[in-house]
Amino acid sequence: MKILVTGGSGLVGKYLQQFTDGIFISSKDYDLTNETDVVRMFLTHKPDVVIHLAAKVGGIMENINYPFDYYEQNLLMNTHMIKWSRECKVKKFVGVLSSCIFPDFSDHYPMLEEDLHQGMPTATNFGYGYAKRVMGVHIDIARKQGLNYSYIIPSNLYGEFEHGDANKKHFVGALLEKIYQANKNGDDHITLFGDGTPSRQFTYAKDVAEILDLITIYDVKENLNVTVPENLTIDQMARLALEATNSTHLEIRYDSSKPNGQIRKDISAEKLLNKFPNYEFTPYVEGIKQTYNTLYGQ
Ligand code: NAP
Repeated sequence: MKILVTGGSGLVGKYLQQFTDGIFISSKDYDLTNETDVVRMFLTHKPDVVIHLAAKVGGIMENINYPFDYYEQNLLMNTHMIKWSRECKVKKFVGVLSSCIFPDFSDHYPMLEEDLHQGMPTATNFGYGYAKRVMGVHIDIARKQGLNYSYIIPSNLYGEFEHGDANKKHFVGALLEKIYQANKNGDDHITLFGDGTPSRQFTYAKDVAEILDLITIYDVKENLNVTVPENLTIDQMARLALEATNSTHLEIRYDSSKPNGQIRKDISAEKLLNKFPNYEFTPYVEGIKQTYNTLYGQ
């Protein structure tokens, strides 16, 4: 069985290389926004299974400033990948959505897989959110026409392989970088966006890779949320990170001129854990210790 993984050079893709024996593609091999490249990729590799990780992914300010690029590039990549998987008779396709494309507000939390279209995505993620939702629709209707296509919806992620560009980092990656820089420069504080009150689930990206491997091995056909159960406020996560990195001497300051983002967006992993009842997610403190130590040699 030939497995092709797009986004193979990214945060999740690098971990997936540790679990799955496949062909790992980056933008240097093929530009997936270019249909000719996508066709060439399928004709060259002739995969049986496609795990489509590739996406234009960025932090909150990038998403606010460049929504057109986040919408168009993701829409093109996803559409080409699904279209040509079908044309080339790929047997199994797994796409990756994100918890940040769920409705901005819900009347219940944690949100379930079927809540995805129950309201608009948050304004700060509008372009990326709708491009990913369109991929979800494309996959769901492919399944309705008898294809073995599904997606996972991970919460926010962190890990050793996160993009080095500070503008592209998500909260935890940016937080660990700020702690490291403050210690290196002898500063007495770190400054975080917003006011610290929003809550987030941050999953160790290695766990998402492991679950993608299990989904492939056991040929799971349903859409699944993938998340640690812990839903912590930004302030709680920052304090735990200071403890985990022996940096409790640093004060936390908030820049309330910067956006908070969505106030909460916690999703339920119940369906996933019904499928894999023995699966244990890496606890947040353990994952950030591992990430910090690997990145900054502590
Ligand atoms: P990432 O680290 O930003 O990596 C993105 C990957 O996509 C890289 O391999 C990149 O290749 C590739 N890529 C980007 N544009 C491309 C193009 N035009 N053609 C071909 N390849 C292209 O992403 P990640 O964090 O691993 O995310 C993996 C998946 O999980 C994505 O679908 C993302 O939306 C989803 N997700 C991520 C998070 C998170 O917090 N990171 C949370 C939920 C869901 P290069 O390295 O060559 O640029």
